[in-house]
Amino acid sequence: MNVLVLNAGSATLKFQLIATDRAAIERESDLKLARGVIERIGGHALIHFQREGGPRVFREKTLRDHRAALDEFLAWVVSDESGVAAVRSLADIHAVGHRVVHGGQRFRESVRIDAEVIAAIEDMVELAPLHNPGNLKGIRAATELLGPGAPQVAVFDTAFHASMPETSYLYAIPYSHYRRFGLRKYGFHGSSHRYIAYRYRKLRGVPKETVNIITLHLGNGCSACAIREGRSFDTSMGFTPLEGLVMGTRAGDIDASIVSWLAEKEGLSAAEVEAMLNKQSGLLGISGLTSDMRELLAEEAENGDRRVRLAIDIFCQRVRKYIGAYFAEMGGADAVVFSGGIGENSAAIRSRICRGLGALGLELDEARNAACTDACAHVISTDSSRLQAWVIPTDEELLIARDTARLLVAP
Ligand code: ADP
Repeated sequence: MNVLVLNAGSATLKFQLIATDRAAIERESDLKLARGVIERIGGHALIHFQREGGPRVFREKTLRDHRAALDEFLAWVVSDESGVAAVRSLADIHAVGHRVVHGGQRFRESVRIDAEVIAAIEDMVELAPLHNPGNLKGIRAATELLGPGAPQVAVFDTAFHASMPETSYLYAIPYSHYRRFGLRKYGFHGSSHRYIAYRYRKLRGVPKETVNIITLHLGNGCSACAIREGRSFDTSMGFTPLEGLVMGTRAGDIDASIVSWLAEKEGLSAAEVEAMLNKQSGLLGISGLTSDMRELLAEEAENGDRRVRLAIDIFCQRVRKYIGAYFAEMGGADAVVFSGGIGENSAAIRSRICRGLGALGLELDEARNAACTDACAHVISTDSSRLQAWVIPTDEELLIARDTARLLVAP
């Protein structure tokens, strides 16, 4: 089955076309066919498409909305130009899997999309005003262009964390806010943490119930997840993705009093302070330079800028703090797993995070860590390390495609 995976943001649309089915999942022989991303939808859009193993295609074009953007991708996929042999017409796209950010308390797993599911995702716009509207645009565009009969599946970022106990997800504020509004920790990046935990147990050849690990998704957005007996036990993002680790432009944990204090001081609204905490903080806020870890590392190496170093050190210390917290919460763990753009690519950051974790029994093998550059999964701790360290590349799109295939094909 050819599954189109859509990740729709407010002005972006990311695509992947993946051929998968139950047998392919079993054999891990799913096939990536093509990918693409369109940015700045609603204006002069930047378009990148690529067939797997093929040349990169780039063009610019005014695209009015998500429907126009999806149409652009579909027209390219079926064209001779794309060279995607498995898809010659729209009938060769058998299903669509959507990344949906917020599934609230209702969606504990992926679901086939129907009118009622769409209404529920609309209801959750209140919880995720920045994300769910974009996801809905993606669903509507797919329905319009592939027809109402095309099967579609929603895979929620929050779903994996539905297994968290109350002790992890409740904030210590009056309980009535939880009852009235569902104000609680939801957690995000769930598809990533779930995929990493799945790969880990496949690589180790162990059953799900024995997986006790701490997964670290370190990209532009960053989150940690305590996975106990194969299920999410706690995670660092909260009611929104703002909580937890230091990120590219997000502050992560702060004292909540800062919001009203700063609003008063600067004459800002609470929403403006929140925007500052989401968009101008984190690595960017401390360094005053960039949110991009690769650029920060280069700048640190070349010029030794104090604030750049500080930004990186604070980032690493926060990750270490969460590893320690989750180790204690779960009563120990077998492994720490690095993933995401930073976690997969930066041996230097992995090494800096692991410094000081000897107390938990983690001994990094610096040579293994440095040699881990091939985008494959690797153990990077020493053979005698009591707490293992791994790098496992994440693949949320693959997980979405597989969930879609599983839900649509009879067992
Ligand atoms: P997103 O969370 O948007 O999916 P990614 O997972 O692609 O983002 O991660 C982007 C981050 O990964 C950026 O900060 C980027 O600088 C960082 N990154 C990518 N490659 C490297 C590298 N070789 N060294 C350090 N950081 C890197």
